Amino acid sequence: MEREFEPRAGSIADSHCHYDDGAFDGDRESLLDSLFAQPTSPVGLAVHAATDMRSSRFGIDTAARFENFYTSVGYHPENCDELRGRSMTSLMDDLEELLGLSDKIAAIGEVGLDYHYDGYDREFQKKLLCAQTEFAAAHSLPLIFHCRDATEDFLQILRRYRPRGVVHCFSGAPEVAEEIVSLGLYVGFTGLLTFKNAKKVKKSFEIVPIDRILLETDCPYMAPEPFRGRRCTSDMIRYTAAYGAQIKNILPQQLTDTAFENTKRLYQLEIRG
Ligand SMILES: [Zn+2]
Repeated sequence: MEREFEPRAGSIADSHCHYDDGAFDGDRESLLDSLFAQPTSPVGLAVHAATDMRSSRFGIDTAARFENFYTSVGYHPENCDELRGRSMTSLMDDLEELLGLSDKIAAIGEVGLDYHYDGYDREFQKKLLCAQTEFAAAHSLPLIFHCRDATEDFLQILRRYRPRGVVHCFSGAPEVAEEIVSLGLYVGFTGLLTFKNAKKVKKSFEIVPIDRILLETDCPYMAPEPFRGRRCTSDMIRYTAAYGAQIKNILPQQLTDTAFENTKRLYQLEIRG
């Protein structure tokens, strides 16, 4: 196994995190402070992935408090049930209102399709995804995409709209990764990359060009080995970076730095580092 990787201070970009999750209720303030307000922290940038209105507001509030913390706003497909009675116009009006609250909204997301559970209305999910994709284009913002067990429908929508964005927590086959890259999108990799049985993901990582790779935690989920199953935090990206660097045959710091630059480029962030 690779030697322990100590990233340079401020060099990690977590392109996708969920610090509003209940898993952080006990120590959220001290954790955010240690990650985002200390110059010695290895983490120099994070983007909150919103899942609903409340989560979008959390991202906006947190971004106002920490210089290197940005947010998305949007509706995750898993929240479709509670939105079903609403029109797309009124849902987009609510997003529009949020855009006026902060200049640190870097993306619309996370949006997408989730067919994992039978309960979610698939037609409504598609409508909501298309509406948010059009909304993002109208506001020149990139998108954070979530796709679970819905590859074919999802790719069809990508082919139709050709959006700017990242397919986050990529878990698919190399052919899918290849098409996503050819459509001009970025591919986000979590700690899943380090899991023993994640052979497909490792193959996909191998073929995605380094300038299209984003590193992310999706925390509190997807902690990399050797912390699999535990609560994940942004600094754990060092393990994913060390693992991915071996696959790409480059130094972990080089992968970390490149992923940082890619994150800044996709989200159009003007920050140090
Ligand atoms: Zn997420």
